[in-house]
Amino acid sequence: MQRNTSTITPAPVAFVRTLLLVGLALVTLVLATGCAASPAKPQEEASAQSAASQPAATEPEATESNSGDANTDTSTNTGPTTTQAGTDPRDEEFAVDPSRTDWNFEAPETKTVYLTFDDGPSENTQAVLDILDRYGIKATFFVTNINPDYAPMIAECYARGHTIGLHTYTHDYAQVYASADAYWEDLGSIGELVREQIGYVPCFIRFPGGSSNTISANYTPGIMTQLSSDVVDAGYQYFDWDASCGDGAEHTADELVDATIADTSYGYQSIVFLAHDGAGKQTTVEALPRIIEYFQEEGYQFAPIDRQTCVPHHGIGN
Ligand SMILES: [Zn+2]
Repeated sequence: MQRNTSTITPAPVAFVRTLLLVGLALVTLVLATGCAASPAKPQEEASAQSAASQPAATEPEATESNSGDANTDTSTNTGPTTTQAGTDPRDEEFAVDPSRTDWNFEAPETKTVYLTFDDGPSENTQAVLDILDRYGIKATFFVTNINPDYAPMIAECYARGHTIGLHTYTHDYAQVYASADAYWEDLGSIGELVREQIGYVPCFIRFPGGSSNTISANYTPGIMTQLSSDVVDAGYQYFDWDASCGDGAEHTADELVDATIADTSYGYQSIVFLAHDGAGKQTTVEALPRIIEYFQEEGYQFAPIDRQTCVPHHGIGN
């Protein structure tokens, strides 16, 4: 696959939008390991301009939402959980298991996009689920405990055929990245919350800020280097992303659609696509049908993340 860096044509009539598109194009140049056809996006949820100019991911909605969410489970989750006997083969297949190391870093033969939604569940999750159902699409939700009242939506997402991944319990960078032990404590807490909802702890995780985040260096230098190795040793796999709609910052639905097109114009074979279903992401809901239709027009099939998904890894920045 070829990276296309020539599709961005600055438009003086829409300078702000140009900044958005150019910023997204620039971050596609950052290389990392992962799918042969995939670039790396260095910052999760950063606005387009900040993705181009700032080293640290920022997630304003998260820090204001987690002050009251004390961890209730301090167990460190480093081993396989006991899965419940059931009829869903995903239960055993997706459970964290240190004995399984058969991760895939090769792009699939069929053009595939893996829609992923971070920071939920929230009041927007139901609308996202309904849109996905309308198009007959399965996706992946990297969940949090930012909005505890919506925890049952995790079970609802899973029941509708979507994959559940672990994002973070608190989504508070200062807390999550205070130390390696603090990270494992947080991961154990979100793993336990998900186990309560779907019966097991899934192996799929996404680091707050992605593995390439540098904001963690403010709290623990080198922690991403350590964690990115340790989580895999413990049976997890972390999924960064290949492209994003840029909804980490506030944008109109039109801007999110434009950013999606700009960020995927290279036509990669496998795209793990970052979006958010957290609180305040109504424009993502508004843009989602057009984003889906865009990928359909480009010939992509949709799939939820599983153990055969081409794993995207960013370059470690801390
Ligand atoms: Zn997040």
